[in-house]
Amino acid sequence: MTLLTSWKCKGEVHLVIGGSNASALRINSACEAGANVKVICEESLENLPITIRTTFDLYPTQVELLNKKFDVQDLTTLGRPEVANVVDKVFVSLPISEYSTKKLIYDESRKLRIPVNVSDSPELCTFTLLSTFTSGDFQLGVSTNGKGCKLASRIKRELAATLPQNIGEVCNKVGELRKRIQEEDQLEETTIGEHDDDAVHSNKLNALVEEFNMTKEQNKLQRTKWLSQIVEYFPLSSLSEISLDDLTNAYKNTKIEMAAKIDSKVNSSGVVAKKGKISLVGSGPGSVSLLTLGALQEIYSADLILADKLVPQQVLDLIPRQRTKLFIARKFPGNAERAQEELLSLGLEALQNGEKVVRLKQGDPYIFGRGGEEYNFFAEHGFVPQVLPGITSALAAPVLSNIPATHREVADQVLICTGTGRRGALPNLPEFVKSRTTVFLMSLHRVVDLIPNLIKEKGWDPELPVAVVERASCPDQRIIRTRLGDVAEAVEANGSRPPGLLVTGYACEVIEKAKIEGNSKWTVEEGWNGGHSNFNPLLELIEKVQEK
Ligand code: SAH
Repeated sequence: MTLLTSWKCKGEVHLVIGGSNASALRINSACEAGANVKVICEESLENLPITIRTTFDLYPTQVELLNKKFDVQDLTTLGRPEVANVVDKVFVSLPISEYSTKKLIYDESRKLRIPVNVSDSPELCTFTLLSTFTSGDFQLGVSTNGKGCKLASRIKRELAATLPQNIGEVCNKVGELRKRIQEEDQLEETTIGEHDDDAVHSNKLNALVEEFNMTKEQNKLQRTKWLSQIVEYFPLSSLSEISLDDLTNAYKNTKIEMAAKIDSKVNSSGVVAKKGKISLVGSGPGSVSLLTLGALQEIYSADLILADKLVPQQVLDLIPRQRTKLFIARKFPGNAERAQEELLSLGLEALQNGEKVVRLKQGDPYIFGRGGEEYNFFAEHGFVPQVLPGITSALAAPVLSNIPATHREVADQVLICTGTGRRGALPNLPEFVKSRTTVFLMSLHRVVDLIPNLIKEKGWDPELPVAVVERASCPDQRIIRTRLGDVAEAVEANGSRPPGLLVTGYACEVIEKAKIEGNSKWTVEEGWNGGHSNFNPLLELIEKVQEK
């Protein structure tokens, strides 16, 4: 293994020794990173490959050709005066026949602590270059630790292709918001650490943010925390549209904001041609492969889609954006109620204009999704929704973590419940039933209070096997298997990756028995490979059906 880092090279002096095509790649990378490059080779400029000559045109102020043979003294004379003229990095690309020169450069550079990279000679490198993808301030680097640069490049391409096209913009927007919040709130560096990046690695990230009675001071501290939460939850490509207003006073001027956010169809005649239709549709736990065909059909026939912020990007990507408007609930901590009102009134407005509205909800609409309330709201206003079930995370997560929720002689019942009661209080907790698999949603931020309560007040067994399942069916799915008494510690140690839930009961060890035995208190499993990233055949089929 190696230590992956990213170097700040602005103003440094990098020595490139040799005039091959590989040298040209090094010159380009160094110049892009802001370094000044001195190229040492015996050929004159006209005889160098076109790839190198181009770099002189591209970076005329940064690249310099030293038409000479390499001399050991170059390492200590060509650098910046402020670092005693020692060069900052050395890149060597010489023919195989010049092995002794390469070895000499490597040995001398090491003595001087200059990072050195010799092409095609891993044994003569103190560092290697990553295969990179760059978009704005976003950079992705892939290393195979010398196993194959072509492979690294292929993996990089495949990874980059899965990212939203506006990833650079997303990166810049989040950076800009973060900076503005820090500046406006004038937080001390230490406080920022506690409430920002560190929060991502802590189970406190997902802690409930009170909607009520927030003082101005609390409000200030919450903003960095909100930003961290939004960065975790919100569909990645939509992050570039978040504004500071969304984070602070999104609802100060609700009506105007609503109109601005959605480019509503203007009915010029003012006559409603047809009665609007609405459906409440479950989108499953995350992966497109767990979306029902019915849900897909609804997505394809909608004029307006009102989605939860938890609806995953992959599903949102299926929306035909040329003809369908998308609005994502602006439910950020502390404004859930008003965000819900906003969503409902947007839906109603569209229905009154005769549009087809699809209310897309994560998992199943009637499992902790306020689906019943929404049904009643629209029905009372004269639009009775059609409801389509979705695969609930509560039942998908056990399957994806190899837990048969019912199993002969082990579990004969399943209970789905919440770990969060009204206004953040503890809910009514269930009694312990040995033959029951209990799934706690919205519970991971509460484990510290929840578990002792279950054990002390409700007679739960601390040795009960459990699994924390996060981002079930997403590529970054994670499963932590442990025992009830150790959950809080496990969640604290591993940090949170929302959304996640807790599965409890002896069913947890029917298949994965061995995993939580032995010395360690928990085990962690990363990733899910069961999804299909390429749904083209299905989408083509649906397009055809639609055309008919
Ligand atoms: N209607 C949704 C649940 C909404 S409540 C459903 O049927 O799945 C939100 C809670 O669902 C989260 O706090 C988390 O506990 C759980 N959840 C949703 N998606 C999840 C996923 N992919 N993996 C694990 N838990 C998930």
